[in-house]
Amino acid sequence: MLALVRLRRGVVGESRRVCHLIPVPTGPVPGHLTALCGESIFPGEAEVLDGLRGMPCHACLVRSAPSGTGLLANAG
Ligand SMILES: [Zn+2]
Repeated sequence: MLALVRLRRGVVGESRRVCHLIPVPTGPVPGHLTALCGESIFPGEAEVLDGLRGMPCHACLVRSAPSGTGLLANAG
């Protein structure tokens, strides 16, 4: 299961406040979470979103795309 999180205003500049995808841990709560793109999210620095808002993190989106052939439309 993935959660959408965005760093809070003031933690980073507005241009870095993108929506990251974070795998929800199933075991003990870790000291920090790691987004699919590798960004570390520490407690109190981010807000959990109930839907995609603002700018998505491109690297997280690329890493969440299913692999395999035939999943993209043929534009030709
Ligand atoms: Zn990301």
